[in-house]
Parts: sequence; structure tokens; C-alpha cells
Amino acid sequence: MRHGNLFVISGPSGAGKGTLVARLVREVPDAWVSMSVTTRAPREGEVDGVHYRFATSEEFQQLVACDGLLEWATYGGNCYGTPRATVEERIARGDQVILEIDVQGGFQVREKFPAAHLVFIEPPSLDVLEARLRGRGTESDEAIATRMETARVELSRKMEYDIRLVNDDLDEAVRALVGYVNEQAEKIRG
Ligand code: 5GP
Repeated sequence: MRHGNLFVISGPSGAGKGTLVARLVREVPDAWVSMSVTTRAPREGEVDGVHYRFATSEEFQQLVACDGLLEWATYGGNCYGTPRATVEERIARGDQVILEIDVQGGFQVREKFPAAHLVFIEPPSLDVLEARLRGRGTESDEAIATRMETARVELSRKMEYDIRLVNDDLDEAVRALVGYVNEQAEKIRG
């Protein structure tokens, strides 16, 4: 018998969270990924309602004001937040709800949902991380420098997460993440 759960997946930009989460949903049928709202401009190829709900600052502030977000944070000068209602519905329905969010958001979730499981995805090294960010070709040098600085801050908090997975070998990291999610889903709760 599986139960609904809330999972936070955090880690520096470029650690491979998106790829891992995409593989997770292919392998775990009751996994559901929340779609965040952001004031960041869409990158090339990003579609509103698929990758993010892209919003203006005014729309975002309205969501904050009406308590429509479970958590929210500013990252690289833009706001990002998790819509509350759908997440709560999905947990109640018994799904494995996945939030791919930054560490500031992760700790807010832990405050509100102490039963949430916090997973930190680590890059093999900071050099590998920088190479991945440059390889994407989507960010300016300045944006990459900011993300590397943020990465150091995020990595300094990894021990506060429930588990850490190093994304060195992708298949191995997927196996570990899928195993963890299934284990929590099937855990007998007192
Ligand atoms: P990106 O701009 O690369 O899509 O995302 C930047 C950072 O914001 C990533 O670490 C991503 O996980 C995080 N992020 C995405 N959505 C949310 C959200 O709803 N809340 C929070 N706190 N962080 C988010």
C-alpha cells in the first residue's frame, strides 16, 4: 500500500536535477512534478505551462498576497514559487509529489510539512558544475558567476537535507532516487 508523500529535490543549478526528475517520473507511475511559477523570462525552447508558469511581478505578488504559494524564494534576481492547492490535492490523492526547488524553498517546505523528504543533488565537483553550466550555453558569464556563487551557498547546507545523491553516473543516481522515493511511499506509518 503506497501513501502520498512530498519530496523536495534541491541542489545547485547544473547538478542535473531536471534530468533526474524526468527519469524519476518515467520510472515511478505515481510521481507527479509540481509546476512552479516564476518571474524569470523564458529561455529559448521553454514553454509557458510546460516548464514553468511564467508570470509578471504583479501576478506573482498577488499569489503571495492570497497565500497561493506553499513556498517562494528569490533566485538570481527572479521570484520562483510553488502553487499550494495542486500540491495539497496530489498528496491527499496518494501521489509522490516532487518539488524541484532551491534550498531556501526546501527549508520553508520542511517548516510547513515536517514529513517532507528533502533530497540534495550534488555535482561531482564545482569544476564539473561550471563546465555543465557553460555547456548549456543559455546563461551569460555574469549569470554563470552568480549561479556558481549560489551553488557554494547551497552546497554549504547539504547536510541539513535528509539524503544526498552525487550525480556522477546518471543511471546510478536515478536508481538511488527511485529507490528512495519507493521506500518512502511504501513505508508503514504509525
Ligand atoms: P532556473 O532558472 O534554472 O529554472 O531555476 C533556478 C533555481 O530555482 C533552481 O535551483 C530551481 O530548482 C529553483 N526553483 C524552481 N522553481 C522553484 C520554486 O517554485 N521555488 C523555489 N524556491 N525554487 C525554485
